[in-house]
Amino acid sequence: MPLTRRHLLQTAAASGLVPLLPRRLIAETQLGTGRLLTVSDGNLVLPGDFVFDGMPEPELASILAALRIDRQRLTPECNVTLWQDGEQTVLFDVGAGPDFMQSAGALQGNLDAAGITPEQVTAVVFTHAHPDHIWGLLDDFDEPAFPEARYLMGRAEWDYWWDPATVESIGAERQLFALGARRRMEVIEDRIERFEDGDEILPGLAAILTPGHTPGHMSFELRQGQAAALVVGDAIGNDHVAFARPGWEANSDQDPELGAKTRVALMDRLVQEQMPVIGFHLSQGGMGHVERAEDGYRFVPL
Ligand SMILES: [Zn+2]
Repeated sequence: MPLTRRHLLQTAAASGLVPLLPRRLIAETQLGTGRLLTVSDGNLVLPGDFVFDGMPEPELASILAALRIDRQRLTPECNVTLWQDGEQTVLFDVGAGPDFMQSAGALQGNLDAAGITPEQVTAVVFTHAHPDHIWGLLDDFDEPAFPEARYLMGRAEWDYWWDPATVESIGAERQLFALGARRRMEVIEDRIERFEDGDEILPGLAAILTPGHTPGHMSFELRQGQAAALVVGDAIGNDHVAFARPGWEANSDQDPELGAKTRVALMDRLVQEQMPVIGFHLSQGGMGHVERAEDGYRFVPL
């Protein structure tokens, strides 16, 4: 087995040298006759301002205190969703890979632990092209890490990151995101399948445009007869303020106003339909339900 930085990090983590990995590496639930899993890619380490900048501070402080969230430093989980129904093995996003943050990029090792080989993955579906979601696309030889998979991305998202003008317009703090996305997209340019809002992109899987976090962010409704679940990516980007005050504009969204509008609509639907939600940065594996709470909602992990 070639010794990669990823393996070294895992070895270090296993030896207790680097306390990086969250408690649950894999969460699982049954949906109809299929199996819905999340597999941890590790976690991010972010300054609180990345999300909170501009939110009304006194009220924010009391929400965060009640949920025991550190205002200054966030360490959100990264949970990659996997769907298996006997015919297909579908991965939603591919994690951060080795080059984004030391604390992320654990997906491959955790897929191994779950007994899932890269060759088994039949489709990779992207929610959006931020580094923690797409930088894990390439293996050590800069080839797609899931060699047998179809690759699918929403058309608006693809067009945004493909456009050479984006690196100029996106703002200094996200320029690296644009360069990194484009570099990886070039590797799958000849095999990418682009889809639109509302398309049934794979059997039992419909795309829902949920813009704001990025211009073409997509969520996905998985349906198995009466059973359904919503994979929301970063359209609901955390399990604290995004639930408590979905209408607040979040600095982590590229278009904060549109992001808030999208989030409010998603929360409303998830509560109305009592549908399980799977979010990339939600805690304890990222699967749960939405409940109404005073002035907002709360996340109830499975
Ligand atoms: Zn993310």
